[in-house]
Amino acid sequence: MTSGETVDFARLWALQDVDVRLDEVTARLEAVESGRAWAEASARRAEADARVERLEREIEEWEKRRRAAERERRAAEDEAARMRERLYGGAVRSAREIDSVERQIAAARERAGRLETEELEAMERLDELRARLGRAAEAAAAAARAEEEERSRALGEREALAAAAAELRARREELQAGLPAALLREYENARGAGRGRGLARTEGGVCRACGVELPRSTWQRVQRGALERCERCQRILAPGGA
Ligand SMILES: [Zn+2]
Repeated sequence: MTSGETVDFARLWALQDVDVRLDEVTARLEAVESGRAWAEASARRAEADARVERLEREIEEWEKRRRAAERERRAAEDEAARMRERLYGGAVRSAREIDSVERQIAAARERAGRLETEELEAMERLDELRARLGRAAEAAAAAARAEEEERSRALGEREALAAAAAELRARREELQAGLPAALLREYENARGAGRGRGLARTEGGVCRACGVELPRSTWQRVQRGALERCERCQRILAPGGA
């Protein structure tokens, strides 16, 4: 510790500002370069595409059902027609046989009617599914556009971010050059403990970063500009505000 010496807090605050900005810039740059910057938009697009695919499969299935019902309905109608021909063609003679054929015609017609209802239900379902597919396809196209927009916006930031990072690193070197090595070690250590911020403001004997009340002797040394760290949050305690 640099007890006795006073800390150049103005410079230390400037260093912290640079570090916080540098962290933001490098985090954004990393997100841009890894594609995380538009990952959410990509996930939304994939979800929208999957919805379109699900609807297309559902439509295919209902279309199969509709065609099967149509085929069977036609077969039942043909059967009824054939029987009618037999009946009126004079091939059926006995009353008992006529009765039986009439019952078969009625059964075939009944079956054809049931199948026609199934067909109509399938067609209604298909209309509804196709309307939903239309909306889902529009949503998927919009999601794809949004993804592309976010991606190109992010990639467009890349150069500016890299330049800003280089500038901040240079500024950081300058500021560090004017601070004692021991203080820089304390600051880096405090920064690690303080989630990227190594400095804490103090006010009325309280650490503003974590709210702990400082021991009177610590508070007095802080006010004299000495290097002290908060026992709770581990940050360097800066006298007054910024
Ligand atoms: Zn604290």
